Amino acid sequence: MTLLAAAILVQDSAQAQADMASAAEHGANLIELRLDDFLEVDAAWKLVRSAPLPVIVTVRSTAEGGHFDGTDTERLEFLSKLISAQPAYVDLELVRYSSPLHFRGPDGDGPRLILSAHDFKGRPDRLNNLVSQMSRIEDCTVAKVAWRARSVRDNVEAMELLATKTKPTIALCMGEAGLPSRILAKKFGGFLTFASVFEGSGTASGQPTIAELRDLYRWNAMGKATRVFGVVGNPVNHSMSPAIHNAAFSEVNFDGVYMPLPVDSSYEAFKAFMESFLAFKPLHFSGCSVTIPHKENALRYVQEKGGQIEQLAERIGAANTVVVGPNGNLAAYNTDYAAALDALTATMDIEREELANYRVAVLGAGGAARAVVAGLAHYGSTVVVYNRTKEKADSLAAEFSSHRAKVVPARLEKICDACCQVFINCTSLGMHPNVDQTPVPDHPDWNGATVVFDTVYTPLQTRLLRDANAAGCRTVQGVEMFVNQAAAQFRFFTGLDAPVKTMRQVVLERLAKS
Ligand code: NAP
Repeated sequence: MTLLAAAILVQDSAQAQADMASAAEHGANLIELRLDDFLEVDAAWKLVRSAPLPVIVTVRSTAEGGHFDGTDTERLEFLSKLISAQPAYVDLELVRYSSPLHFRGPDGDGPRLILSAHDFKGRPDRLNNLVSQMSRIEDCTVAKVAWRARSVRDNVEAMELLATKTKPTIALCMGEAGLPSRILAKKFGGFLTFASVFEGSGTASGQPTIAELRDLYRWNAMGKATRVFGVVGNPVNHSMSPAIHNAAFSEVNFDGVYMPLPVDSSYEAFKAFMESFLAFKPLHFSGCSVTIPHKENALRYVQEKGGQIEQLAERIGAANTVVVGPNGNLAAYNTDYAAALDALTATMDIEREELANYRVAVLGAGGAARAVVAGLAHYGSTVVVYNRTKEKADSLAAEFSSHRAKVVPARLEKICDACCQVFINCTSLGMHPNVDQTPVPDHPDWNGATVVFDTVYTPLQTRLLRDANAAGCRTVQGVEMFVNQAAAQFRFFTGLDAPVKTMRQVVLERLAKS
């Protein structure tokens, strides 16, 4: 069993007592009391003694990222005085360990030793040697190594260390890019993972909270065979996708976990990430959502690998979904265009094919507009692309205009003259915090036959949608497109029907909090 350890930096007794109680309440199995700043023997002894869960006592030195700057002798003396309070473990840095500590009594009682090594700058040079060295020391019960992830690829090395361990081992990467190693420690049988009690209260960067690990990242459901998914982008730390997909996995009891995967913006970084995750088979890396700036990179990578590419993803030149099949075969899809079309046709109560009967104004010529225009043109709509920068509208229209569908460009300020039945905003106008903006400041011809769709979903009800409602139009909220694209990804990832109601609820809850 991999333990969930609450990392508590002790400032004073009252704070530590409160944090320990919260840790137990939130479902931690173990508490690490970091006593670097709290070297009062009697008070520390009482804390250890009164802890509601087994305790690791640690006095981390400044050399390894802590606050203790005293001598080794002072530290060992302090730790020795805590032994009678019966902590379950004592952590000591490998470089400070020279001879057996004799913390354990003749009957084998007393605390066990965790030997540790930390590198806050990057991967330690002799990583494998360090772990073997610790594992060979008889006195050492648990070997611990933690380093700042240089990229998400470092997580693979941490997982490899766990997969090949000879003693109970902790291998964790720090920083935002190190989160997978913390979440997946359980999948690989790590001795423990550390989590903070409250957001920001942890002892190392990148520690999730206990509640996040348990409720968001499906800690209790994780096992050896759990399939791994994520959202690849730069940045991805505010993505709602982990919350949506993990909630959906839970809802249908699918054995998967989904996490943010920050990857530097270049194609080389994307490729290196994919290669490392795919090569490590015990990871069961099964697919990813892809967001800015990697949608073009994802398509290119799957093309280079000879994978299957959805026809419209190729036409759009961008993929937002990569699926890894059972034999490692890759497939790339674009669920954005389908999500937009389905949100639209559901409100209009028509089939996609019937879009051929409509004249649609698409506002914007960026990535979202591109997917929407490609989808509409595929189904034969007449499309007018309105954009502030006319040249971008010109080239988008030229690219998607065909014998099948007429696509013409126009200046955004001409939108009031548009004689279209459907208006789709794909600009960022009206998005939080500029909620008073609208790409259509005035439109006298709007009526009950007009459909207005705003892809912007923060806020849910944009000024554009409020104006359209006031004019009696039917409206489509951007959140529907957002939920649809995630639901389509879920189907590709799992082969199961998506629990759309749950997914929508998660999005609405997240948006209400933001
Ligand atoms: P993008 O590639 O950066 O394109 C932005 C578009 O907005 C361009 O056409 C740009 O015009 C236009 N624009 C920006 N500021 C403007 C201003 N002040 N006045 C007039 N036009 C302006 O971004 P994107 O990825 O296409 O995303 C655009 C919007 O779509 C986002 O805000 C997002 O809310 C929404 N979206 C929603 C979903 C969903 O699932 N609901 C998915 C993707 C995107 P220029 O070419 O002149 O710069």
